[in-house]
Amino acid sequence: MAAPSLASTSERCHEIAQSYLQIEEPLSQIIRETQNAIKLTQKLLLNEIFPRWSPFNGEISFSYNGGKDCQVLLIIYLGCLWEYYKTNMNGQEFPLKTLKAVFIDQDKTFQTLEQFVESTKKRYSLSLYESDRNHTKALSMPEAFHKYLGDQPETKAIVVGIRYADPFAQDLKPIQRTDDGWPDFLRLQPLLHWKLAYIWSFLLYSGEPICGIYSVGFSSLGDINHTLPNPYLAKTNDLPLRYQWEITHGCEGVVNCSPLSSQDSHFQNNEYLPGWYLLDDSLERCGRIKKN
Ligand code: ATP
Repeated sequence: MAAPSLASTSERCHEIAQSYLQIEEPLSQIIRETQNAIKLTQKLLLNEIFPRWSPFNGEISFSYNGGKDCQVLLIIYLGCLWEYYKTNMNGQEFPLKTLKAVFIDQDKTFQTLEQFVESTKKRYSLSLYESDRNHTKALSMPEAFHKYLGDQPETKAIVVGIRYADPFAQDLKPIQRTDDGWPDFLRLQPLLHWKLAYIWSFLLYSGEPICGIYSVGFSSLGDINHTLPNPYLAKTNDLPLRYQWEITHGCEGVVNCSPLSSQDSHFQNNEYLPGWYLLDDSLERCGRIKKN
């Protein structure tokens, strides 16, 4: 089947976000707060970001690694792209065929995640720059971005799906320059105010494919040697599912997880609940092993 165009994908993502915003009953506290979080992200993109860095001329790139946070931001970003186009260029042809994105393949990642990135690259029409996959001489993040900007010098700003709950993120701002030691570009961070519960409520409602590794006890994805299923998701903890309404009444009516790769199939051991059973932001990275 031919991949959908960026225009039709953006329109679909706009419909997903609008559909979530129109939920009226039952309005759980999580859904109400998520609606407010979506509106703030949309406002940042449409009123603060797109008028300063055009989303249509290569100035903006999207940092994408297949994780849940950047996927949520990608859906909202594409929806805003559609709205911005309809408001400013209606009647003209949609000006982009692909969305410029960058994946820094730093360490060895889960094969399921790599396959998910590959399939969503087509699904969301990403023109994805992938950094050198030679793991024996992996570049640091700043080095990899330096190389990226050398290859794509028109890039002025990069969208990042970081949240306040992430390490060292509590003082970040939605728009800010990179720190010392990094190549100079603007970091666009319109997801900072999102809590873990908002991410899952929206993503499960969207019916979009979710990386399969989240279905077997993972709540945040680092490299393969430093990421384990989150112990707080052990089935013995008997956690409730908080998003049944979103799943049943959402855009597809089911959870749509990508298949586990052969390398990752041993995680299918039934001992852990899926990542979306975890509500507490402070426990999200408890499956991550600290690097020395
Ligand atoms: P998860 O926490 O479940 O792994 P995530 O990967 O989306 O989800 P983080 O790991 O917290 O979130 O990373 C924050 C953001 O930084 C991502 O949303 C993405 O925009 C960017 N990012 C992180 N790692 C990479 C990478 N290797 N390449 C490109 N962008 C990245």
